[in-house]
Amino acid sequence: MRKINFTAGPATLPEEVLEKAQAALWDTGAGAGILEISHRAAYFDDLMNETQAQFRRIAGVNEDYIVLFMQGGATLQFCELPMYLTRPGDHIDCIHTGFWTRNAMRDAVHYTQVYYAYDGAQHGFEHIPTTDEIHYSESPRYVYYCANNSFMGTEWQAPPQNAPAPIVADMSSNIFSRPIDVNAHGVIFASAQKNLGIAGCCVVIIHKSLLREDVQPSMFDYRRQAEARSMLNTPPTFAIFMLKQMLDWTEERGGLEGMLVRNREKAAIVRDAIDDTLGFFRHVGEPQCRSLMNISFRSPSQALDERFVAEAEKENMFGLKGHRETGGLRASLFNAMKPENCKILADFIREFARKYG
Ligand code: PMP
Repeated sequence: MRKINFTAGPATLPEEVLEKAQAALWDTGAGAGILEISHRAAYFDDLMNETQAQFRRIAGVNEDYIVLFMQGGATLQFCELPMYLTRPGDHIDCIHTGFWTRNAMRDAVHYTQVYYAYDGAQHGFEHIPTTDEIHYSESPRYVYYCANNSFMGTEWQAPPQNAPAPIVADMSSNIFSRPIDVNAHGVIFASAQKNLGIAGCCVVIIHKSLLREDVQPSMFDYRRQAEARSMLNTPPTFAIFMLKQMLDWTEERGGLEGMLVRNREKAAIVRDAIDDTLGFFRHVGEPQCRSLMNISFRSPSQALDERFVAEAEKENMFGLKGHRETGGLRASLFNAMKPENCKILADFIREFARKYG
């Protein structure tokens, strides 16, 4: 039996997409199932070209940028980007908003110096800085931020302003949940397993002016990857097939504007239920910084949080436990999460507060 899946990723997928995947496992129409087709076959070549074109159209990526479908997840980009973009003596600015910027910088320090233009620890990571609160250094090679902090449930509403260098964004947990201002960025990267399908593929969008000549190792050479159309080695063929299905699904629902409307409605359904409990449950994250994708909240105690998770499981809902570093509760409402399932969770939240409040 399929239950309602609120996990933070790999996350729930649209039923329509799963049905297409199910059929394609057996037969793509090219004489074999999708798992059995060579990346050199005409079928896959066409799929790659179509996926690339469709991704660019939906995201609004112009010819100044390349789009790559890489492996190694977002985590490989944590080291690949500083390794590729910085030179000896350089430094970068990090706008530190939690677990994922910390992890990225743990890798970056092996290749460059990191300056913290803002340190969110002072606000318990419940805040996204305003422009005045960010203090850029002199001449960083780039400015790094994480667009949606899946661990704490905070999200940037717009890219950082007034950056003195190209901006690099980790959009793993909110890409395609809303329109993207690609041109405000030098690099955008995102693991696929939330809104773009399944694990195994990481989309990287890079401004061509940042590309370099002959970087080693070749797998880390974005320019060569682009020339090989993300097929320098055997690509994650099934993940790219799934990405294509997610792009179709997204486009059929009004693209990124359509996703924003849908995601705002869904988040409001759950947030309103939390508000209706009159302080029994508390939102994590300041109001103007709250994520549409990851609703972080807490009951009055850890024991009640645990009871909430256990009782929700009896109602066929799972994945509601907070991030391992923050505790509390978290409901991830990625694009594929249906509004009616958000309503079921909202009713459960109200009922739980009535019972234990
Ligand atoms: N950044 C963010 C914001 C994430 O949410 C995640 C995964 N949850 C990652 C990076 C890491 O992605 P991966 O495991 O694919 O490397």
